[in-house]
Amino acid sequence: MDDRTGHVGWPGDPARAAEPPPKLPADGPPVAASTDRPEAASAGAPGADPVLARESLVRAALRGVNEAVETHTVTQPAAEPSVSRETHAEPSTASGNVSRETHDDPDTPIAAAAAAAMRVTGPGAVAFPRPRETRLVAVANQKGGVGKTTSAVNMSAALALRGAQVLCIDLDPQGNASTALGVDHREGVPSIYEVLLGERSIAEVIAPTPIDGLYCAPATIDLAGAEIELVSLVARESRLQRAIAALSQPFDYVMIDCPPSLGLLTVNALVAAREMFIPIQCEYYALEGLGQLLRNVDLIRAHLNAELAVSTILLTMYDGRTRLADQVAAEVRSHFGSLVLSSAIPRSVRVSEAPGYGQSVMTYDGASRGAQAYFEAAREFAERGATTGMEP
Ligand code: ATP
Ligand code: MG
Repeated sequence: MDDRTGHVGWPGDPARAAEPPPKLPADGPPVAASTDRPEAASAGAPGADPVLARESLVRAALRGVNEAVETHTVTQPAAEPSVSRETHAEPSTASGNVSRETHDDPDTPIAAAAAAAMRVTGPGAVAFPRPRETRLVAVANQKGGVGKTTSAVNMSAALALRGAQVLCIDLDPQGNASTALGVDHREGVPSIYEVLLGERSIAEVIAPTPIDGLYCAPATIDLAGAEIELVSLVARESRLQRAIAALSQPFDYVMIDCPPSLGLLTVNALVAAREMFIPIQCEYYALEGLGQLLRNVDLIRAHLNAELAVSTILLTMYDGRTRLADQVAAEVRSHFGSLVLSSAIPRSVRVSEAPGYGQSVMTYDGASRGAQAYFEAAREFAERGATTGMEP
């Protein structure tokens, strides 16, 4: 698709072993991890009274509630310049449409619910364009903890909430995507493991989620043994592809959440998919191994699936207050250009809390900046699919 996808200039790449890694900021290590609750930080400042600070926040919130619902913008009272407030009208930064708000807290529960409802079901909830044929997407990166599952789940949820029929396949024995989608994945539940072993069709294991139009093929712990069990089976690399091909339910998107490895499970996903979606965490080590991942994509393309292409790269856990995040984002954008979605996902407490409630961040707190960023990323992803020839 794009010769940049074969680029091997990443820090973990042997071809680049002699080169120095990206430099840390000249003035020392990056600033400490951000808090999503700056009012707490403010309250802790010398001389600040946390009770007064919170009361004045509530008063200000009550004043601004109508404007917040109408414009999705929360204004900051001039008298409290030290408390950073959320704004969705902030202009884009050089590293993408990353809003630099510093917390997720809605002003009041009513404001949050109203704003969330406006975004999910209200006039702003315009359906995204739907592809003419199913987009088969492997969400993969062999690096662990970079936001694969979070992105697979929240992109799937955002697309479904905007009118698409989406199947999210959990291909990780950890079963994190199943958890986040509120789907039972205890041992013994019909799961993608039996599908790979040829014991069930994928239609038999698909479960509905609380979101209309969003379904999940869950993973149980049994899948941990599949890497080994698959080795001796016929067509071991294309078992998922065959299972998906036999699916009669018409999905707009099939999103496959891969485990953090390049083993047979990930190979099955890459053989089944036409697109590869790579989440990259905006952290120092996040680029390590990317060269190897892209070489594997080339191998799969050469031998097993000529249609596979890296279609999308998403920057995750972006913290605009660290120079390191900006450096990583700038480097990824300079290497991968238009493959990188302009919307980056900020580091956000709401995003990490949502799976604990068996929810996507969109349904957990649709007004939060994490939810908004995933909506924006999903819109871009959907629009690109509708305009870049990914459909026939
Ligand atoms: P694995 O390789 O283990 O499958 P992964 O790549 O799927 O991991 P996730 O599980 O999505 O990564 O995310 C790793 C951790 O980071 C999780 O605890 C998740 O809640 C958290 N996380 C992901 N995205 C964000 C975000 N935007 N803000 C805050 N926390 C996040
Ligand atoms: Mg995961």
